[in-house]
Amino acid sequence: MNTAELLNDHFRFEVSTAENRSHIKLIGIIDENADFSSLLKLKGQNISFDFKDVSSINSCGIRTWVNFMKELIGTPIEFVECPPLVVRQMNMVPSFLGSAIVTSVYIPYVCDECDHEQQQKISIKDYKSGLKIAQTITCEKCSSNTMELDGNVKQYFAFVK
Ligand SMILES: [Zn+2]
Repeated sequence: MNTAELLNDHFRFEVSTAENRSHIKLIGIIDENADFSSLLKLKGQNISFDFKDVSSINSCGIRTWVNFMKELIGTPIEFVECPPLVVRQMNMVPSFLGSAIVTSVYIPYVCDECDHEQQQKISIKDYKSGLKIAQTITCEKCSSNTMELDGNVKQYFAFVK
């Protein structure tokens, strides 16, 4: 079952349910207009929040999100496919996570040759069990193998305990 809710013209979420878990895909900009109250009915159920298509979060949006997480304390929550902008919030604002467990994040690479940017998905389980994060990968656009990790590996995993 899929339901989409249009919250405002730059943010919406899509809820799908499978195997006893609600998967909530967040899409767009989380700011002062983001309203998560309709999701409070899922309290106590298994929930995954998918951040892949979140394009930005401002400080009002962070506050709204942190309050929403407080309301859901005790609910089994996973954060999946977190892009760098979300990882940055988790690192800076520990309450952004609430009681959630992070399953996967994206780390950014930039090509030295053509400036193309691409993101690599990393499983936190793999990271915790010693996965080595590549400093350079091959560019999908120009095939140069000088595509470098943008920044320090540690900054993308600071939230991992
Ligand atoms: Zn390239």
